[in-house]
Amino acid sequence: MAAVVLVTGGTGLVGKAIEYVIEHEPAGSRFGKKPGETWIFASSRDADLRDPEETRKLFEKYKPTHVIHLAALVGGLFANRERKMTFLRDNMLINDNVLHTAYLQKTQKVISCLSTCVFPDKVEYPLTEEKVHLGPPHSSNFGYAHAKRMVDVQNHAYKEEFGCNFTSAIPTNVFGPHDNFDLKHAHVMPALIHKCFLAQKNGTPFKVMGDGSPLRQFIYSRDLAKLFIWQLREYDDVEPVILSVDEKDEISIRDLATSIVKVMKFDGKAEFENEANDNGQDRKPASNEKLLSLIGRDFKFTPFDVALQETATWFLENYANARTGQNHA
Ligand code: NAP
Ligand code: GDP
Repeated sequence: MAAVVLVTGGTGLVGKAIEYVIEHEPAGSRFGKKPGETWIFASSRDADLRDPEETRKLFEKYKPTHVIHLAALVGGLFANRERKMTFLRDNMLINDNVLHTAYLQKTQKVISCLSTCVFPDKVEYPLTEEKVHLGPPHSSNFGYAHAKRMVDVQNHAYKEEFGCNFTSAIPTNVFGPHDNFDLKHAHVMPALIHKCFLAQKNGTPFKVMGDGSPLRQFIYSRDLAKLFIWQLREYDDVEPVILSVDEKDEISIRDLATSIVKVMKFDGKAEFENEANDNGQDRKPASNEKLLSLIGRDFKFTPFDVALQETATWFLENYANARTGQNHA
């Protein structure tokens, strides 16, 4: 049957990766384009999804049978810490408009993208899907986290009252080509790649926030893209699925900075600002047990060093047009 898959946020880090995988995997394969499928990758220029009328027009234009809902106001620790209300409100509006329009238009399936920061700050590790609502999220990003957490509540309510097939994915920290490389507001990986590039170019120190001790799990955007395509085609349950590498693949910000120094061929060393207040959450290790039990334990994640190299190469080759903010030194 003909499917029209609308990817909201289709021009961002994750959306571009889904587009890449759909175009580059063999047609008809598990992650490649299937016969009769049309994929639409929408940006905020196609519709500002904070606006119900623009959202309605986007759905009327494309009449999607399926939606991968990625669109969000997204930022790293420091952007989230500074703009809690904006992250809460923009994301609540976007999510409410997308889900309610999908319900009204009888969209067959919606997968919304959450984040591991929805989990409680104080909870037994590893994070697993049933722990989302067991306590308040970390204070640094409670606006974004509450807006995203509410999507799981909405999914259950839409299913129970109206029978909608809405579900969600919970990725860990993502990186890859087309990321936002803004120096101040981006996530740690793209911000540090950009900072290291400028340090090498200008002969200035490579400064890393915090003390380097926090741990994170990083997933390559093109691996994550495959997992979204799997979830779209092969997973029909309201409960979320954590999309993550293994727990043993947690790495410290210190080791991340060292890897970036290497891949960017920086002559100096990373210097830590050492403000403990800038560390954010110590760690948020997530289990991929549910994912692997469903998709198959032979799913291959790209080795971290290979993915980092591809990301750095993309950044260097696309510096003029990449999202780098206004802060070029
Ligand atoms: P991104 O690169 O910043 O892209 C955001 C996308 O959302 C862009 O396509 C943007 O459109 C669109 N968008 C933003 N505001 C919009 C609005 N008001 N109306 C319509 N579209 C709007 O973000 P990303 O990293 O790909 O994130 C995708 C999803 O993954 C998000 O839901 C995010 O919460 C989640 N996530 C990300 C990470 C991470 O580390 N990056 C980790 C966990 C979860 P324009 O191109 O027009 O601006
Ligand atoms: P989080 O995983 O939601 O906390 O978001 P980030 O991707 O922003 O990662 C934040 C972690 O990276 C914290 O431990 C920060 O102290 C550390 N970090 C170090 N330097 C930077 C930087 O330049 N930008 C960002 N966003 N984080 C940094």
